[in-house]
Amino acid sequence: MKVLKRLVSKDSSIKYLFELSDGETVESLHMYDAESKLTYHSTICVSSQVGCRIGCKFCATGAEGFVRNLSGDEIFQQVNISNADCVNSGTIPIDAVVFAGMGEPLLNYENVKCAIHKINSELGINNFELATAGVVPGIYKMIEDFNGKHINVRLNISLHASAEDQRKRIIPLACQYHIPELIKAAVDYADAFDTRVRIRYALFKGFNDTQDDVERLCALLGNKPLKLIVSRYNDNNVSGLAAPDLSEVEEFCRRFDKRIDCGIFYNFGSDIKGGCGQLRRNHADYHLPNSKFNFEKNY
Ligand code: SF4
Repeated sequence: MKVLKRLVSKDSSIKYLFELSDGETVESLHMYDAESKLTYHSTICVSSQVGCRIGCKFCATGAEGFVRNLSGDEIFQQVNISNADCVNSGTIPIDAVVFAGMGEPLLNYENVKCAIHKINSELGINNFELATAGVVPGIYKMIEDFNGKHINVRLNISLHASAEDQRKRIIPLACQYHIPELIKAAVDYADAFDTRVRIRYALFKGFNDTQDDVERLCALLGNKPLKLIVSRYNDNNVSGLAAPDLSEVEEFCRRFDKRIDCGIFYNFGSDIKGGCGQLRRNHADYHLPNSKFNFEKNY
């Protein structure tokens, strides 16, 4: 596996484009918390698949279709190479690994699990975070596999909508797993690990930012061990969805008025195509006119 591109953002995050042994490419994003505002200060967001089957309408990776799963070692190498880069440049070694790059990690669960154990045993990293578009059986598999273990795997669920029909319009998987069973799985996970599950909500201007959305989210998440994390849609021109200003994201969060636990995720690396799949797509557009993507979209 070799580094094809390494882009450094003005916010110090680093985007890597890796080439795999069969010529496919995947991305990782290293996020450096220079101001020590976050729980972890040197985090890498890794890919678990080449492409993705889920086909979320707002995602550059989803628009390209699915190619293949990454092996446990290919996932491990993304962390290993970036960690060596941190050590060589004198910055903080990686202290947390996030599975929120290209691919749905719970559709490549065994290899992801294998990578988690290898990263833990070889690099001593104990903190992991996994983001799923809502593969409910995978959430219960994680409860089974990590309960009582010393490895900390924080769960994020990409909700991105407050109502079923609205969610189906942007996440095809929503036709298979509905919001109530997703919320139940999130609560079961939080209870099993005595933690809070993060419910991710990318804000799209004029789509999921109304007062009705606020009321529905309060009804769904209130009095549960869940935290709503709102972020600004990382505009990638894949669909007609529009990104709000940061001030609009902040205003949306203020409307919850402490009725539910709510925070904002400030996107890293916007100037270096930090969003999932953006750099790979850009690279493919200009360098791989005969790329091997197949446009399989169905889950
Ligand atoms: S957002 Fe995640 S799950 Fe959805 S298409 Fe993109 S990579 Fe796949």
